[in-house]
Amino acid sequence: MSTPTHPQAAANAAEAAKPSNFLRQIIENDLAKGTYASRRWGGSPGDAAHHAAGQPDPAKIRTRFPPEPNGYLHVGHAKSICLNFGLARDYGGVCHLRFDDTNPEKEDTEYVNSIIDAVKWLGFDWAQPGNDQPYQASDYFDFMYRAAEHLIEAGHAYVDEQTAEQMRVNRGDFGKPGVDSPFRSRTPADNLRIFREMRDGQHEDGSMVLRAKIDMASPNINMRDPAIYRIRRATHHNTGDKWCIYPMYTYAHPIEDALEQITHSICTLEFEDQRPFYDWLMERLCEGGLLAAPAPRQYEFARLNLTYVITSKRKLAQLVYDHKVSGWDDPRMPTIVGLRRRGYTPAALQMFAERIGVTKSDSWIDYGTLEGCLREDLEAKAHRGMAVINPVKLVLTNWDEVMGAGHLEPCSLPALPHPPEGTESPVRHFTIGKEVWIEREDFEEVPPKGYKRLFPGNKVRLKGGYVIECTGCAKDAAGNITEVLATVVGGTKSGTPGADSVKVKAAITWVGVADGVQAEVRMYDRLFLDAQPDAGGKDFIESLNPNSLKVVTAIVEPSLANAKPDDKFQFERHGYFVADRVDHRAGKPVFNLAVGLKDSWGK
Ligand code: ATP
Ligand code: MG
Repeated sequence: MSTPTHPQAAANAAEAAKPSNFLRQIIENDLAKGTYASRRWGGSPGDAAHHAAGQPDPAKIRTRFPPEPNGYLHVGHAKSICLNFGLARDYGGVCHLRFDDTNPEKEDTEYVNSIIDAVKWLGFDWAQPGNDQPYQASDYFDFMYRAAEHLIEAGHAYVDEQTAEQMRVNRGDFGKPGVDSPFRSRTPADNLRIFREMRDGQHEDGSMVLRAKIDMASPNINMRDPAIYRIRRATHHNTGDKWCIYPMYTYAHPIEDALEQITHSICTLEFEDQRPFYDWLMERLCEGGLLAAPAPRQYEFARLNLTYVITSKRKLAQLVYDHKVSGWDDPRMPTIVGLRRRGYTPAALQMFAERIGVTKSDSWIDYGTLEGCLREDLEAKAHRGMAVINPVKLVLTNWDEVMGAGHLEPCSLPALPHPPEGTESPVRHFTIGKEVWIEREDFEEVPPKGYKRLFPGNKVRLKGGYVIECTGCAKDAAGNITEVLATVVGGTKSGTPGADSVKVKAAITWVGVADGVQAEVRMYDRLFLDAQPDAGGKDFIESLNPNSLKVVTAIVEPSLANAKPDDKFQFERHGYFVADRVDHRAGKPVFNLAVGLKDSWGK
C-alpha cells in the first residue's frame, strides 16, 4: 500500500522540482488564453471538414513524437519522448506516436517494432479510446497531393524543370538574392496539367519538381521557392507503387501535424529556419479551407548532446554494421535497447530527461549526469549481494576444530539496507565454511600505510559472517599467492550477542566456496575515449576505447545466482549490475556492469 499523501501537496512538490522548461510556460499561456479551446476533433486525423464534424477536442493539447523508422532510437530520442509524452500527460493532453515514413527509401518493420517497444518500455502510451494504432505519415499522401493541387490552383506553387544544378545556382546565397526560374510564371492551368503528368508517371525521375512560389529574394533561403514534391519511382512499404511522386519532408511535416490537430509541434533547433515555411504553408492551407484553424505551431529546443556518446542513427548503424559492437542492443550503445540491456530503468531515463530540462541553446551534458540518475533509482530498489570479482581462496585453518569438520554455518543479511517505510527487507541466505572466496586486493603480505584489511596479524570481519585473524598465505613456485590463510574467532557471528566481543576496523565481502556460483561478469567502460567523439567532423571510429569490455569470471552468492534476466543488484562495493536479458540463464549467470558506485567520468 502506498503512503497516503494529499494529492495537491504531492503535485506542488512535483511542480517545485521541475527544472526550467520554457515549453511549459508557452503551454500554460496558451491554456490560459484558450488559444486552442475551440478546436474540434474528428476522432482520427483528417482535414478541416473531418474535424468540424467531430466534437470539441477532449485533449487540451496535442503533441507528437515523429521518428523516421530508419534505425533504433537513442538516448536523444528518449529525451524527446519524455518531453512530448510528459507534456501531454501533465497538461491533460495526448501525445501521438507517428511514423514519419514519407521517404520511400529503406524503412523496416524491425525498426517500427523497436520504436513501439521503446516508447512503451519508457512508460508511455499513445492509445486513445477507439484508437490504439500509431499514426503513419504515409496515410496522408492523398491529402498532401490534394493540398499541392490547391496550392497550384491558388497560384502558390509551380512545376520547375530547371536542372538541380541550375536550381542550386539560382537559389543564390546569404549575400545574394535568388534568380526567378524561367518556369516560375507558368499559368496555374499549365502547372496543374504537368503536375498531374508527374503523378501519372509521364516524366523521368529528377526531371522536374513542384516548388512553392514564395520569394526568391527572401533573406531566409528556405523561403526561396522550396521544392515540395519530387519524382521518385520507388516502392513504398505502405503505399506500394501507388505513387511515383513523393512530398518533401518540409512540406509533409506541417501537414501531418495539422491533420492530427497537433497544437505544439516540438522539434530540435536545426528546424528553426524552417519555421517561416511551416507557418506560410499552414496559412495557405487554412485560408483555403483545407485545414482546420488554429494551425499547429512549431517550437524548437536544443537537442541532447551527451559526452562520450554519439547520437546519430546513421553513425550508430555504422558501429553495428562494422561489428564494432555486438548489435543495436550492445550494452555500450546509447540506444534505448542498449541502455536497457545495460541495466538502465525507465525511471532513470525519465529522471534524466526532467533533470536536464529543455533549453534553446546547444550544450553538452556530462555522461555522469545520466549515470547519476540510474544510481539514484537503483540505490533504493536494487537488492544487495556479494560477488567476488577477482577471487583468491581464503582458508580458515582452525575451522574444523572450532566449528566441526565439514560444518557449514548458515548466515543471512537483508537484501535492502533501507526498505520502504512500513516494509521489511527480504533476506538473503548463504553459508560459511572452511573455505571462502575473497577479493585478491583484500590481502597484502606487507600492508601499505593505513591498510585495514587482511595482512598477517590483523583481524577483520567477513561481512555477515565471523571475525577472522589473518595468519599468512600460501604461494606457488613462481611466488604467486594461491591461498590466504586465517583463523576464525569463534562466537563472533554477525547478529549474535558475541558479534561485538572483538573490535575490527574493516569488514570485507566474500562468498562461500561451498555455495558460491561462478558467473560471467561483463565489465563495461565508455565506448569512446574522446568526450566529443564526432564533434567537428572527427572520425569517431578512431576514438573507440579498446578496453570498453572486459569479461571476467566472478563468484557470486546464491541469491545472485537465482536472478531472473533484467534483475538489478548492487554488488556490494563494486557497483550496480544487471542479469543480462539475452545471455543470462539459471545456473549460468551473466551480469553486466550497469554503473559504478561513484562518478568516475570527471577523471
Ligand atoms: P538521427 O539523426 O539520429 O536520425 P533524427 O532527428 O533524424 O535523428 P528522427 O527519427 O527524425 O531522428 O527523430 C524523431 C524525433 O526525435 C525528432 O522530433 C527529433 O527532434 C528527436 N530527436 C532526435 N535526436 C534527438 C536528440 N539528440 N535530442 C533530442 N531530440 C532528438
Ligand atoms: Mg532523421
